[in-house]
Parts: sequence; C-alpha cells; structure tokens
Amino acid sequence: MRRTFIANFAFLSAIVVTFSIFAHPEEQPPVAPVTAATPATLPAPASTPEHPGVHHIPAPSVEAAEAIEDSSETGKMLPKHSGHWGYREDNAPGHWGTISPEFAQCALGKEQSPIDLRSSHLIVNETPTLSYAASPIAATNTTHTVQVAYARGSSLTIQGAQYELIQYHFHSPSEHTFDGKHWPIELHLVHKAADGRIAVIGVLMSVGDENEALAPLFTDLPREAHETVAIDARIDANALLPKKKTFFMYQGSLTTPPCAQRVTWLVMQTPTQLSAAQLAAFKQIFTRNNRPTQPLHGRKVRAGTFE
Ligand SMILES: [Zn+2]
Repeated sequence: MRRTFIANFAFLSAIVVTFSIFAHPEEQPPVAPVTAATPATLPAPASTPEHPGVHHIPAPSVEAAEAIEDSSETGKMLPKHSGHWGYREDNAPGHWGTISPEFAQCALGKEQSPIDLRSSHLIVNETPTLSYAASPIAATNTTHTVQVAYARGSSLTIQGAQYELIQYHFHSPSEHTFDGKHWPIELHLVHKAADGRIAVIGVLMSVGDENEALAPLFTDLPREAHETVAIDARIDANALLPKKKTFFMYQGSLTTPPCAQRVTWLVMQTPTQLSAAQLAAFKQIFTRNNRPTQPLHGRKVRAGTFE
C-alpha cells in the first residue's frame, strides 16, 4: 500500500532542504553493464603511499551546501540541482566544478569522494557503535536518486561524536570501487551531527538473492521526478548492513555538488545482495548516477569494525 504525492514547488523545496544532503542521480543514457561477479573477499593488501602534508582546503559546511540549494544565504538564485548538474554528457561529473563557483571543490578539492578502495591499512583501529531502530518509508525521487528519509532516533557514534541517521539513497553503478572494480549498486546511509558534520556508511551490493529488507521499497519506488511515496512498511537500517561489520574509513566529500569535504566515510568491506529484478527496478528509473573515483592525494584509508 502506498500513498503518492506529486510535489508542488514548496513541498519539493522542503524535501530538498530536508533530505537532499547527498547524492541525487539523473536520468541517463545506458551505461555499460556491471558484471555481477562478486568476489567473496577482498584482494590482498597493497601499500598506500604516505604523504604527510595532506592538503586541507577550507570546507564549506553542509549547512553551506544546503544554503546553496536554498540560495537564501547567497542572495542569488543558483541553479537547482535537478536542472543543472547531473550525469549526462553536458552536465556530467567532469563539468561540476565549473557549473557554479559554489561547486569549485568538485574540481579543486583534494579530499574528494568516491575513491577506489585498496585493501591497504586493514588495521582495525576504530570501533564505532550503531544504534538503529526501524523507520517508516518515505521515498522521494529527487531526480538524482531515490532518497528515503529516516525517522529520528537512530545514530552512529564514532570518535566520540554522535551522528544521526537522516536518510539513505542509492547510486548505480557503485561510486566506490574495490581494487578498481565497480559493483552494480551502492547504498549510502547519511548521518549528520549536531554541528553539521556528515558521516556516511557506504554498502556496495552485488546481484544475487533478493534483499528482503529493501523489498517493500524496491517494489514501490517513486518513478516520477519529485514524487514521494509513503510505503506502509518499515525498514531497519541494521538489516541493510552486511553481517560482517568491518569497513574502510577515510576523509572525503559529498559525491554530488557542491562536493563539500570533511565527510567521514565508512565503506563496508563486505557487499550485500539484491536480486536482478530489484536492480532492474532501480535502473528503470536511474540508469546511471555515479561519480567517478577521485584521486587520494595522499589520504590514508584505515579500517575498523562496528562494536
Ligand atoms: Zn550518495
């Protein structure tokens, strides 16, 4: 059972400001199919060069990112994401940095996401905690992705800071790669701290068994631009994570304009699965909505596991 809303402008703005912290795909010509082959484990570690002088560019806060969309603080109308940046040839990720001055980090930032993850530095030195409860499903077609708002009260605590889970969404093919290899789809669980900092848990997914946790959503995805559907079911974010709780961790950015940095990324090392039919349902709406991997510029990738 679902209720559908076609957003009017005011409603859409509220949705955008409230939920669109992160990625948003756009309709796109077909992309080369990603093979479903899925290594069960990651390849052997490779060394990562160490460059102590990691370049820090002052990062616009996520509030700033939201203000850009809102345009109320900049005092000028900026192009709405849906009409400007995207994944087509003329507005593809390689152009984001020049579409708007506010998107300069997309081209100039030295701590950008996504990245290719190599099996280096697999030292477990972070043990964050998760406190997730099930949430009702309110899914919006942002024109860049399907984004699902999460009910308040679920959080990730890492390095003494608590981040609340606010939404999750999808990219296909995956944005992060494992040893250069894309996966069919990637889930991003977006968390936000009281001070505006962002932490994202990424889960790469391969084609295999049906993902039961996602089934209520993927049988009723919002197909129309700016459509929001409320689905009479709940999804528990715990069920969206793999059983094995080890992750890669690095400092990166939003993977969509304005590409704001100082985003803490935790990318699960073990993929989860969804069925071919589930993947096809998403790709019928968003054929391709991934940003290519970005240079490390000396950043270190660490590892950890949830307690
Ligand atoms: Zn994302």
